[in-house]
Amino acid sequence: MDFSVITEEEFDLLLDASEDFGRFGKTDRKCSRCGNDLDYYRNGSSSQTKCKTADCLEITSRGI
Ligand SMILES: [Zn+2]
Repeated sequence: MDFSVITEEEFDLLLDASEDFGRFGKTDRKCSRCGNDLDYYRNGSSSQTKCKTADCLEITSRGI
């Protein structure tokens, strides 16, 4: 995972959002940086949670 551009708080938000997506297929959480919706992508064993705004918040998780 790349921690370089987001804070621990932002990381936790995206992690919580990815759990929401995993459980419910959606999340009510919003990007803490710009307020936009968050998106979730699954790619094999890894998943990506990111803000819908380009070049905003984004994390990649493995093995969830
Ligand atoms: Zn954003």
